[in-house]
Amino acid sequence: MADRFWEQPVESGPQPASGSRFDVIVVGGGPGGAAAAGYAALAGQRVLLLDKAVWPRDKTCGDAVGGKSLSHVEELGVRSRIEASPHFSITGVLFSSPRGDELRVSRSDGQLSGYVLPRRQFDHIMFQRAAELVLQGGGAVMQGFAVREVLFDNAANGPDPGPGMGDLRRVIGVAGDTGDRTRSLSFSAPLTIGAGGVRCPVATAVVQETYDGRMVDREKLHYSAAFRQYWRNVEGATADSGPVEFHYIDGVLPGYFWIFPVGGGVCNVGFGIALRDLELHDRKLRGLQEYIINEVPRFRDRFAQAELVAGSSRGWQLPLGSPRPGEKLQPRRAFGAGAMLVGDAASLVDPFTGEGIGNALLSAKLALGHFDPEEHARGFPLEAGARYQRALWKRLGYELRNSYKIQRLSRRRWLLNWFIGKARRKAELRRVLTESLMSREAQASLTSPFFLLRQLLF
Ligand SMILES: Cc1cc2nc3c(=O)[nH]c(=O)nc-3n(C[C@H](O)[C@H](O)[C@H](O)COP(=O)(O)OP(=O)(O)OC[C@H]3O[C@@H](n4cnc5c(N)ncnc54)[C@H](O)[C@@H]3O)c2cc1C
Repeated sequence: MADRFWEQPVESGPQPASGSRFDVIVVGGGPGGAAAAGYAALAGQRVLLLDKAVWPRDKTCGDAVGGKSLSHVEELGVRSRIEASPHFSITGVLFSSPRGDELRVSRSDGQLSGYVLPRRQFDHIMFQRAAELVLQGGGAVMQGFAVREVLFDNAANGPDPGPGMGDLRRVIGVAGDTGDRTRSLSFSAPLTIGAGGVRCPVATAVVQETYDGRMVDREKLHYSAAFRQYWRNVEGATADSGPVEFHYIDGVLPGYFWIFPVGGGVCNVGFGIALRDLELHDRKLRGLQEYIINEVPRFRDRFAQAELVAGSSRGWQLPLGSPRPGEKLQPRRAFGAGAMLVGDAASLVDPFTGEGIGNALLSAKLALGHFDPEEHARGFPLEAGARYQRALWKRLGYELRNSYKIQRLSRRRWLLNWFIGKARRKAELRRVLTESLMSREAQASLTSPFFLLRQLLF
């Protein structure tokens, strides 16, 4: 693998003529879109993969590629590429409470819990692999192509798939341009995958048609904002393997501060908080992070010799997978006739950890598993999309609900102090916390009032 391969362009191949038809159009080439395009191409489908960015490109993130991603990067054939590129190997997690108590948990089986590597590298590996697979399968890849419009037909959508599933017009393709807004190109396919992240145009079309104006305020409750920087030489975080760190700190609660080493003596350092909680603080994200690094003694000391990587300060939003009260489609609608949404476009970020890459990969695989290019040649039907949504929530609903409960519990300072303090002393609590890194059942114990009460009292 060439040195600093992630600084090289990715080959797109011949550009398709406007009006071309494909089996699948994938809007967005981040982890969700690259995985969707890769899985579709591996299944023999002719794919059009579109992204408005041109590689090499950065993406604002904490850069942790957690355990849930491992099977997908293996299946897509990029695990060895990740391991051959500079990275940090996650062996556990370090939490600290507002009082300053530290708790370390790691998998009892000694297995790897994931990687941390800059998204500039990870996304390059994913997009390059997707492009290879798509081109081998006779499809096309366009970089620097911004989708501006989702194209619909007005034909009947077929049988209503059930209460609350609504009746959307069928998506038949997309239109956009390569920066020259006067020359629009359009493409069609029976299925369009919306993988364009927080502001995915396919998601916007599907979500607006479903929720109208209702969603604007209510959806705000389900977003976090986060800020990241790269730092060199943060004390205690210069190794190439070890724990990733989450810290809860007085003055910036209920947000959390993270230090995720990426290897080579560099760390991704950031701060995340629910949007509605950010509104309660006088300072903005950057100000809150500066307060932690410059004024909180235990971090001021660790950053005393550290150096900020110039130009690395960036903030962005995370659309959370927290359940929406009263909605039939959880966490929110992720399909229409002719379309399915994956990753951030489907609002699937874990509300507690802020992890979204694993769910982007998982949802991409699940979505493609519901598409049959022969059976759906005349248009991906609404009821197949509804089956995708049900399968998605069946797979992720349990952990997303629990993570949301844990996120809400972590808003209480006393509970954080008590929990982390107690877990340092109590083997049983530590065991459940450790296992919750691996098992969904153990996660449920963490949100069970009975379990917490028993741990508190005895
Ligand atoms: C500060 C921060 C820290 C985070 N930390 C972590 C972490 O440590 N671990 C983790 O797992 N997750 C983390 N997340 C969440 C994670 O970044 C996302 O969940 C993940 O990137 C989702 O992948 P995606 O493919 O769905 O979307 P994205 O990665 O956002 O990719 C979307 C792609 O679509 C393209 N696109 C957008 N609009 C258009 C358009 N109109 N036309 C064509 N292309 C378009 C974009 O250029 C982009 O390439 C973090 C997020 C933030 C903001």
